[in-house]
Amino acid sequence: MTSILEPEVKLGVLHDRANRYDEDLLPCRANNPELWFAESPADVEFAKALCATCPVQPLCLAGALDRREPWGVWGGQLLLQGKVIPRKRPRGRPRKDAA
Ligand code: SF4
Repeated sequence: MTSILEPEVKLGVLHDRANRYDEDLLPCRANNPELWFAESPADVEFAKALCATCPVQPLCLAGALDRREPWGVWGGQLLLQGKVIPRKRPRGRPRKDAA
């Protein structure tokens, strides 16, 4: 997928749009931002749920997908290597296939 805008420009658009709202309406500004990059699957799910109330959620998700964000919760979804994954697996879980 090719973008006509530089990633920094698109992230700037999100920040400009977010700055139009009171910070209390932006969950990742009103709460501990580390939640959006948490190791705990429960915390990741909590961050995803908080995003659902965010006024810039669609723009946030679209931008994150376009930038192929390597990690974190963006726009209510967990991204890994630029792709949405359903949920974070707990640490130390054994692989299904033998190595
Ligand atoms: S949708 Fe984006 S800007 Fe809004 S709380 Fe979630 S990560 Fe933050």
